[in-house]
Amino acid sequence: MKASVDRDICIGCGLCEITCPEVFELDDEMISTVIVDEIPEDLEECAQEAEEECPVTAITVG
Ligand code: SF4
Repeated sequence: MKASVDRDICIGCGLCEITCPEVFELDDEMISTVIVDEIPEDLEECAQEAEEECPVTAITVG
């Protein structure tokens, strides 16, 4: 399972980083980036939670 963030859509609210900091991190431009290649199994749930919670649906997990 992998995650991606659409940088053109992300508004930098930081929610994904709070929900799942092992997978998402705001970069220098305050845009969320994915910091793992393959999501470890024990983090899949929080990554999916971050996907669901993103207010602008910028996250894709699958
Ligand atoms: S929750 Fe969505 S809008 Fe907020 S920082 Fe993460 S990807 Fe960007």
